[in-house]
Amino acid sequence: MNYFSTRDKTLKFSFKDIFLRGLAPGGGLFLPNEIKKYSKENLRELSQLNYKDLATEIIHNFCKQELDKKELSSLINKSYNGFLENEVVKLKKIGNIHLLELYYGPTLAFKDIAMQLIGNMYDYLQIAKDKIVNIVVATSGDTGSAAIASLSNRKNINLFVLHPHNKISKVQRKIMTTIGGSNIYNIAVEGSFDDCQKIVKDLFNDESFRSKINMSGVNSINWSRIVCQIVYYFYSYFKLQKDNLSFSVPTGNFGDIFAGYVAKKMGLPIDKLIVATNENDILQRVINSGVYKPDTVKTSITPSMDIQVASNFERLLFYILDENDQKVSKLMNDLSLKGSFNLDKEVVKKIKKDFEAVRINDEDTQKIIKNIDDKHQFILDPHTATGFGAANKVKGLKNVVVLGTAHPYKFNDTIEKVTGKSLKAPKHLKMYIDKKEKFDIIGNSNLEVKNYILSKLL
Ligand SMILES: *Cc1c(COP(=O)(O)O)cnc(C)c1O
Repeated sequence: MNYFSTRDKTLKFSFKDIFLRGLAPGGGLFLPNEIKKYSKENLRELSQLNYKDLATEIIHNFCKQELDKKELSSLINKSYNGFLENEVVKLKKIGNIHLLELYYGPTLAFKDIAMQLIGNMYDYLQIAKDKIVNIVVATSGDTGSAAIASLSNRKNINLFVLHPHNKISKVQRKIMTTIGGSNIYNIAVEGSFDDCQKIVKDLFNDESFRSKINMSGVNSINWSRIVCQIVYYFYSYFKLQKDNLSFSVPTGNFGDIFAGYVAKKMGLPIDKLIVATNENDILQRVINSGVYKPDTVKTSITPSMDIQVASNFERLLFYILDENDQKVSKLMNDLSLKGSFNLDKEVVKKIKKDFEAVRINDEDTQKIIKNIDDKHQFILDPHTATGFGAANKVKGLKNVVVLGTAHPYKFNDTIEKVTGKSLKAPKHLKMYIDKKEKFDIIGNSNLEVKNYILSKLL
């Protein structure tokens, strides 16, 4: 198997290459040239496995050349041993909704599930054997801490995390800036998450800078993250044993929900994938109207979804446009030149076969948190609450799983305001209450970030 780019199908890269590079040359995103399709019989066999063995089977499809199954299995076991939940994730029933809790890792968000494994893969694949690797990542709050928890003090790896200054929750910032490590640099950029993501993309596209610092990335545009997230869609299906299963997914960069789309491509009989957005609703607009037009970012009580440029949507476009790389390039070109692109009616119709998209505003999110607490004595994090809201707004669904993307403690200010309850920090949280936070505030410009990085490499 090899990998090509959404904007150029003639490119050929190995799993190790795309793992290191993150973004394809020319700005496209990597995709595999084959996706394994499981038969009903295959699915029956997989359904017997525990989470870690299931993860081994599924992830192995995408990195066969580099990792044999035994080695992968031992990396997976090592990665998930520190999770509070032995089965990594947990399903609960809240009213008529199945909640898939994905926050038993060290930083209490679903990002840990991919990031813990990615950290171990960096070592195993000897990505940083001969030369120091500098990982640069943009975060809307949770990717950064998950990356730090996974990569802190690893040999030959530096990690630069860009977060939007004053636009993430206090606990999110505290986790990111107190775990520390001699190789960790936190940068608070005076801008939005989209600004941070744009800087990272620009640096990747700056070939001379990229090669000068041997730059790598672990944002959700990195295919390896998506691969790890496919697993829990299968796991939920096997646990619940229900047909017509739909998934409602709190969405920002379209990474987590795209993993569900890949699971469907692999033969998992998913009914609908429901995109839940907050007021930064570019995905809701494009899926319901065909117009993809980034707006300015609004700050919300769901900061990890305060995103207007949903990068992974490009991967969906590639498949929806019948794998036509030229058509994808054209749309992306329109986006960068004109600031938007339009999809034909037929294309929108095709997307709507698999997807629904619903916007939940802050007021509704708060009502949902309050309502679920009153009725079921269960506290949802605000992001997860948007998933509940979206699931309830789509008519005709049979069985819905909402992805619980973060532990409510990460957003304890909002929870306290809405429910009057103050939450205790969970035991498995990697955060150091008494430690001084370490981060540098810098301006929203490529040059300042570049200079900052170079100054740390001297
Ligand atoms: C990252 C994140 C999301 C959005 O996930 P995407 O893969 O970017 O769509 C939603 N909720 C929480 C809590 C997150 O950390």
